[in-house]
Amino acid sequence: MNLEAEQTYFMQQALVEAKKAYLINEVPIGAVVVHDGKIVGRGHNLREWLEDATVHAELVAIQEACRTLNSWRLVDCDLYVTIEPCLMCSGAIINSRISRVFYGAPDLKAGAVNSLYQTLTDSRLNHQVEVFSGLYADKSAQLMKDFFKAARKKRKSVK
Ligand SMILES: [Zn+2]
Repeated sequence: MNLEAEQTYFMQQALVEAKKAYLINEVPIGAVVVHDGKIVGRGHNLREWLEDATVHAELVAIQEACRTLNSWRLVDCDLYVTIEPCLMCSGAIINSRISRVFYGAPDLKAGAVNSLYQTLTDSRLNHQVEVFSGLYADKSAQLMKDFFKAARKKRKSVK
């Protein structure tokens, strides 16, 4: 696979994870961690299911990658995620020393990579991450729109 095909493939896999979340009524965000051309961690948002505010897609994928590689250091790992990471996940990305982050659509209300804060490229921190965005942005954002639209409808029908 050439580089572009590889990146497209891994972002598709992040979308597969996001759709898993969608199907169980979780905010549809998915992520994969890639090392040496292989997926070593994957995850989707499970906040409602586990009733835990911290189980975002990125954290699930990072935790699995740490277990797979038997290390908290995810050096030379890439993270693919459908939506721009929040402050908490950006912190985990920095702490796990991930090299590159690819995200799909921006999150204008919570994004901590470009939208509200630029944590991953802040030179005051001891680790910086290369950031790429826009791959499958439309599909990633559409999934979120569909989800919230359906959720609003459900709420209305309950009333
Ligand atoms: Zn997050």
